[in-house]
Amino acid sequence: MSNKQTAQNKRIQKQLRQEKARRRNKVQQLMVWTLGVILLGVVVLVFVNAMSGPKAGATVEAQEFQYEKQPALGSADAPVKIVEFADFKCPACKQFDQTILPQLQKEYVDKGVVQLHFINFPIISPNADSRTAAIAGEAVYSQKPDAFWKFYEAVYAQQGDERLNWATSDKLVQIAKDANLQLDYDKLKADIDDKKFAQNVRDDEAIANKIGIHSTPTVYINGQPVAEKDTFDYAAIKNLIEKSKGETGK
Ligand code: CA
Repeated sequence: MSNKQTAQNKRIQKQLRQEKARRRNKVQQLMVWTLGVILLGVVVLVFVNAMSGPKAGATVEAQEFQYEKQPALGSADAPVKIVEFADFKCPACKQFDQTILPQLQKEYVDKGVVQLHFINFPIISPNADSRTAAIAGEAVYSQKPDAFWKFYEAVYAQQGDERLNWATSDKLVQIAKDANLQLDYDKLKADIDDKKFAQNVRDDEAIANKIGIHSTPTVYINGQPVAEKDTFDYAAIKNLIEKSKGETGK
């Protein structure tokens, strides 16, 4: 081979190496871009999911609670609206009723500062007596709105073991009678047995699910969720009420 040919061969080999390196770079660039696009897609998906899913812990607009349909304690003109999502079978709900509610009622509800609303969220045994008790509550409310909170108190006072199926129509009617609610008890029994107000309970659950509630009792003060750790802390609740009162300018 002549010197000229050797030089030419070397040049060609060099060109081939450069061409290979260029191709390698191109493939690497393409891989980086593809990974980038996939990553961006994942980020967008996560974001969209976060935006469209239930937002536990977020502020809830007043109309979401459908206040006008819910049993209410206290003045409709009260500047602070509190919502309690509860299950008559839930021991913690009984605790809220017996430890927080009396103070809340004395200090705020009776003074026209707070109006308390109740929304069913049957969670302990949603396919059994948690639902029966919720339907009973709606039936009492429909028959005699003023009797609802007495029924609420009476059911918690006679609450059975959460592992047992105690909230039967007979038991719930007996509780109403013992509390002297002065209702048409035969109608109450029939309404419970016929599940006449099942849809009202489902409507309540739809509210709970929409706003992402997963436990009871869950409490909102003017649409602001009370943190789980503060639900049984009256001082914390009082603080939130005072803040809400200030914000509504009263
Ligand atoms: Ca309701």
